[in-house]
Amino acid sequence: MDILIFAETDDKGNFKKDAFEIASYAYQISSQTGGNVKAICFNSKIPEKLSDYGVKKIINSENDELKNFDAGIYSDCISDVFKSENCSMLVLSSSSNSKYIGGILSVKIDAGYVTNIISIPVKDNNLVVVRNTFTNKAFETVEITKSNSILAVSKNSFGLKENPTKTEISDFNFNISERRNKVSSIEKTSNKVTIADADIVVSGGRGLKGPENWYLIENLAEVLGAATACSKPVSDLGWRPHSEHVGQTGKPVSSNLYIAIGISGAIQHLAGVNSSKVKVVINTDPDAPFFKAADYGIVGDAFDVVPNLIDKLKEFKSVND
Ligand SMILES: Cc1cc2nc3c(=O)[nH]c(=O)nc-3n(C[C@H](O)[C@H](O)[C@H](O)COP(=O)(O)OP(=O)(O)OC[C@H]3O[C@@H](n4cnc5c(N)ncnc54)[C@H](O)[C@@H]3O)c2cc1C
Repeated sequence: MDILIFAETDDKGNFKKDAFEIASYAYQISSQTGGNVKAICFNSKIPEKLSDYGVKKIINSENDELKNFDAGIYSDCISDVFKSENCSMLVLSSSSNSKYIGGILSVKIDAGYVTNIISIPVKDNNLVVVRNTFTNKAFETVEITKSNSILAVSKNSFGLKENPTKTEISDFNFNISERRNKVSSIEKTSNKVTIADADIVVSGGRGLKGPENWYLIENLAEVLGAATACSKPVSDLGWRPHSEHVGQTGKPVSSNLYIAIGISGAIQHLAGVNSSKVKVVINTDPDAPFFKAADYGIVGDAFDVVPNLIDKLKEFKSVND
């Protein structure tokens, strides 16, 4: 059984981190079931990078028509390659674009489609996988009853595992069908790291007292190369844009490191961040509920702790750069 992965690239043609994670994931499956891992990517500058993660064949299409995400065209291309390469499993990341095309692809290739997967599938009679559900408060075991499957892997649930291998790189000439609509240009409003792509997220709550103090969050985020986020009341108060609000009613965060500053840790906030790997909490109140969910906690005033942390990180970076 050959497995196809869809390795997403950014607008500069670099692979997103998820691409290596799903390659590692697919390699582990193939080492149990036999068969090869193949990848499809669009406009990758360094497709060979996937060979570090066990991908045997990379189909990279360099085509300006594929620069901007288009669910119809992308799913046409991926399903064509899936069929021509005789694959029976497609692995995606649980990014918003991949989740979007997953449903279309499940119809095109007649496959069972499961998102937010956190386990390697087990073959019983059918394929069985475990997924996160109810904003990560429960696990669900799902049986795929079709012979083809699409598995969208939850971010950071598997990690990167290098398996260097010899790779064949080929091009694929897609016959792009007529579009229903066309993106003519994209203008980014900010060059900051987005919450969805960030490895590290620095988040602030009402404990920061007002928007004038957000320099603490921004400075810490800058030194760590992190995205900034906030609790719901902070965006409701207009201290920060709604695009930064995380939690049950905001964006989900699955970063490797989540630093919560002046956030109490209400259940609705935790619902959106509890799939982050390491959670660090800075709060004056030792009884703040967030400490129960934290891996590391600092009981202290953000106005003392954060500037010290920034200084120490700068010092550390200057010694290690
Ligand atoms: C239906 C519903 C959906 C919701 N969805 C969301 C959601 O998606 N996301 C979300 O975030 N909330 C959500 N909420 C709101 C949630 O219940 C909490 O009210 C909210 O998360 C609290 O935000 P906060 O922790 O920033 O503020 P607070 O609860 O006011 O907590 C501030 C914290 O800062 C600490 N603090 C104060 N001063 C300092 C200092 N100098 N240094 C360090 N710490 C300090 C305090 O000890 C306190 O723990 C939702 C609520 C409902 C009812």
